[in-house]
Amino acid sequence: MAHVARGEYEDAYRVLRQANPLPSTCSRVCHHPCEASCRAGATGGEPIAIRTLKRFIVDRVDPKVYAPAAPLPDARSARIAVIGAGPAGLAAAHELSLLGHRVTVFERETKPGGMLVCAIPSYRLPRERLEKEIASLLNQNIELRYGVELGKDVNIDGLLAEGYKAVYLALGAHGSRALDLPGEESEGIVPGMRFLKEFNLHGRELARGKVGVIGGGNSAMDAARVAFRQSGVESVTVFYRRTREEMPAYTEETEAALAEGIRIETLVAPIAVVSEGGRLKAMRFIRNELGEPDASGRRRPVPLPGSQFDAPLDTLIVAISEQPEPTALACLKSSDGGGPRVDPETFATAQPAVFAGGDLVTGPNTVIDAIAAGKRAAAVIDRYVRGRLLKTVNRIAMPSAYVEPVSVPDEDDLDSAHRVTPPELPLDQRRRCFHEVEMCISESQALSEARRCLRCDLEFTHPT
Ligand SMILES: Cc1cc2nc3c(=O)[nH]c(=O)nc-3n(C[C@H](O)[C@H](O)[C@H](O)COP(=O)(O)OP(=O)(O)OC[C@H]3O[C@@H](n4cnc5c(N)ncnc54)[C@H](O)[C@@H]3O)c2cc1C
Repeated sequence: MAHVARGEYEDAYRVLRQANPLPSTCSRVCHHPCEASCRAGATGGEPIAIRTLKRFIVDRVDPKVYAPAAPLPDARSARIAVIGAGPAGLAAAHELSLLGHRVTVFERETKPGGMLVCAIPSYRLPRERLEKEIASLLNQNIELRYGVELGKDVNIDGLLAEGYKAVYLALGAHGSRALDLPGEESEGIVPGMRFLKEFNLHGRELARGKVGVIGGGNSAMDAARVAFRQSGVESVTVFYRRTREEMPAYTEETEAALAEGIRIETLVAPIAVVSEGGRLKAMRFIRNELGEPDASGRRRPVPLPGSQFDAPLDTLIVAISEQPEPTALACLKSSDGGGPRVDPETFATAQPAVFAGGDLVTGPNTVIDAIAAGKRAAAVIDRYVRGRLLKTVNRIAMPSAYVEPVSVPDEDDLDSAHRVTPPELPLDQRRRCFHEVEMCISESQALSEARRCLRCDLEFTHPT
């Protein structure tokens, strides 16, 4: 923020990139928990639009200004296998390569990025940006092998026998939970992950006519907004069992879906598939009311007897939740079905030399947490292959570089300045179109937003 306020955009990029290997991605899709901790917001004002300012930086600066060199492998280097080229796997591979190790990333799809490429739609994360960002992480120490599936083409014991000194499992959570209703295999009913992958990876449009989406999380919102843009779609309705307040999807996603013309029907639960000749005709729902809080702290949906109704549908996308796929992990000794259990400090599984992280371990989570998991795992794997103690003290890094505050002619202007809101693609241009929805702010907006920052860093960095 301090560098942006001074117009030092390349310095700002270096600071960003040093901490985060995927800054362009995060400046678009991160759920910005930093903004909830921002003191400008905590003291009665509006938090600084940190993600929006990061977007301004990454859109303006050539990533070449920060290109860390990966040292050539030497006698102390090891060969390490990373399974999965999502944010966790890529972050781990990048960090390990900078420590001088030779990393092979095995990915079952034909493109790197994990959920960034196969699930998050391009109107939120343009693909040319993502491709460039991933390319900038690669170097001579990293080899990416596509179309290789753990559990089918390779297995853990085989990789260790081949000479890999450690294996990092970052397979994500790519299984869609099913409704478990009779008739769910009817033509026209599609699991959420399959729907998104078919379109994002292969350009196949599986939605047509009246589309229903079941779920209240980000996958449901993304599936609904992708369906809304597909060519044969008439209408899109999201069906959710609680109220909007309990929906786990980010508020900005839900609001964008509603603004685009997607309907959200709340307090309804699916109870039966109505099909004819093996094809979906309608979904039968029952209306709910909210009862006592459940284990998640949210009020439990309670069905209202006699409130069943049929919603005629041509396509139903089931996006209630994702979970790790058990098949690939069968080759992990100690696997007990779901994701692997890991030591919370060392990310080690019960099988020696095998580590795991990202959504595979946490269940569906966030990009920034997956990147953090990959970075931490890389540090531990480096210690493991060098024969050092795995557990270390987790030191919190405080800001250390002093950046002189910029002098502002009139402080009162700053007090009355409002948080910047990025411009968006007009609603009438979004139907059947995958252009990026959120756009970049202007330089003058960036300067005034960054100058609202209260500069908490000076408590640590101001020279005495
Ligand atoms: C629709 C959707 C929208 C989302 N939106 C957001 C958002 O806006 N903001 C946010 O912060 N987070 C979002 N997330 C969550 C975020 O994308 C994930 O938390 C993050 O990508 C997890 O990273 P990961 O590296 O652990 O796993 P993944 O990104 O899932 O990557 C795992 C990789 O492993 C590969 N793989 C799987 N099995 C095998 C195998 N057997 N062999 C070889 N390779 C394999 C997969 O193909 C994939 O490339 C979203 C998720 C979804 C599904």
